[in-house]
Formats: sequence, structure tokens, C-alpha cells
Amino acid sequence: MQDLKTYLSVAPVVSTLWFGALAGLLIEINRFFPDGKDIRVRVILECTCCAQKSVNKESTGISRYITQKNRHNTPSRLELRKFCSCCCKHTIHAEIKK
Ligand SMILES: [Zn+2]
Repeated sequence: MQDLKTYLSVAPVVSTLWFGALAGLLIEINRFFPDGKDIRVRVILECTCCAQKSVNKESTGISRYITQKNRHNTPSRLELRKFCSCCCKHTIHAEIKK
């Protein structure tokens, strides 16, 4: 009977700690493996010709486009043909890392 009383007084505390730890763990998992609303991510496309010509990648003389992609349908690097105002022609714009 004493064991049952001890259990009943400790159980809420233990379960609160347990669910708190579990919720924290789930938040951490979602942070490292985002799903749901983060399937469509914003990507920056950069002209590959300009990137090769330019030594300093931070310079503004590179044509960049901001677009979105579906992480599930396009897990690889996104490449699109777009007009480059620096090269004055259509070139392959590839995804860059943020
Ligand atoms: Zn270019």
C-alpha cells in the first residue's frame, strides 16, 4: 500500500518530466529533419557563366533569381535556363547555398 501511495505521488511528476523531454526531443528532430510546411523551400539561382567569370562571388555582377522548389520532387541542385542581364543571353542558372 505504501508503494502505491509513493507511485501515485511520483507518477504525475515523472510523466510531466517524461512528456516534457519527449516534446523537446520532437522539436529537436523537427528542427534537424523539417517536414510538412518546409517541403517547399526558397532557393537562389545564380548564373553559372557569371560565377565562373567572377573571382569574388559576393560581387553584384552576377545575375540572381529567387524562386521556390519542392524539396521532395527536386532533392538535387536546381538548374534552370534564365535570362542573365550581365551576359545578355539565356544561361543556366544553378542553385547556390545560402
Ligand atoms: Zn551571366
